[in-house]
Amino acid sequence: MLDANHVKTGKIYYEDAYAASFTAVVVSAEGNDIVLDRTAFFPEEGGQSADTGTLAGLEVVDVRIRDGLIHHIVKTEKNEPESGDAGENRDTVTNPEGAAEGSVGLPSPGDTVSGTIDWERRFSNMQQHSGEHLFSGITHRKYGYDNVGFHLSDREVTLDFSGVIPPEGLAEIEEEVNRAVTANIESVIMTVSGEESRKIDYRSKLDLPGEIRIVTFPGVDACACCAPHVRRTGEIGLLKVISCVAYKGGSRVSILCGARAFRYLAEEHRILTGIANEMTTSVGEVTASYHRMRDEIRDLKEKKLSMNRRLLLLEAERIPADERNAVIFEEEADARAVRETVLGLAEKRTGYAAVFTGNDGDGYSYIIAGGNGADARSAASLLREKFGARGGGKPEMVQGFVHAKEVELAALFRES
Ligand SMILES: [Zn+2]
Repeated sequence: MLDANHVKTGKIYYEDAYAASFTAVVVSAEGNDIVLDRTAFFPEEGGQSADTGTLAGLEVVDVRIRDGLIHHIVKTEKNEPESGDAGENRDTVTNPEGAAEGSVGLPSPGDTVSGTIDWERRFSNMQQHSGEHLFSGITHRKYGYDNVGFHLSDREVTLDFSGVIPPEGLAEIEEEVNRAVTANIESVIMTVSGEESRKIDYRSKLDLPGEIRIVTFPGVDACACCAPHVRRTGEIGLLKVISCVAYKGGSRVSILCGARAFRYLAEEHRILTGIANEMTTSVGEVTASYHRMRDEIRDLKEKKLSMNRRLLLLEAERIPADERNAVIFEEEADARAVRETVLGLAEKRTGYAAVFTGNDGDGYSYIIAGGNGADARSAASLLREKFGARGGGKPEMVQGFVHAKEVELAALFRES
């Protein structure tokens, strides 16, 4: 996770983090795997994903450290057959002479090849990673928390801390990071022996026997790190905290820096402006407008419920007292009002009192009460037999759901 002392491949990204193109000599090239004597490609290490780009005309899809060497995984005809039988011909991979027209074969050991990293992506990674150092350094100073996890990919940048960062503290850290960005502090990177490192105060201290690479933003942070960083903090451009959630007893903070932060904020602004326009208000008034709308909707729902209740009562009153079964159909009604209605109707009769809520297309929710001597469960059985209805309950009351037409249901209760 710290500097890979164990890696024998020359690391151009340490000599010059801004080297986007380079030449190197091929040490080995087998299958889709090229090892060079030196490279500007940063391998997947310390939570940061590998650089991408091209090497000897081939697309580099991954870069890994294995057996003390940096391996460039490239796309070849063999691992990515694109046309017909080219993928089946082993020679197209190992022998450039035999390669299909327009395709590029693997270089041979001893060849001098040139490589180019996807600079926009790498620079973005440098911005995110340097921003992470500032954020973690300030968090450590303010709260004493350690950064116990870091993940930097094209999808997200997450930082895990050993303690819980309170919301107001989060905003303060974010502001302080951005002040350090504006201060345009020059980074100092040094590689020291394990012995020397013991005398220096830095984060991620590990007692390692070999050399340790320490990345310092003077006045803000010093941390052992294996990754390339920006020369000056001003290049980070901007750090935005996207979220902070509880994670393993501490906090997981998502951040974005530079163009990624800008694009994120621009998208958020586009969405927010769209909402404000729809609400015919300004962005600053969106929250207040939303609260007004929410309250209004709640009031309307309450009004609608009480109107439904009254409607249900009126319907119930219209049913003659001497009718054996009382059946009501409503588009909408709240369950409590329906229960009260069926119980009231059932009291006065010997048959059933039923309320069906819904419509012919979507089906009906039903609540049925049994009058004097009538078992409501018999009505539920009848609905199940005739229409495959679901539901059940007690002798006094049953409820469920049925797919049937109003005329069919009404006829059923006339007959029974
Ligand atoms: Zn780092």
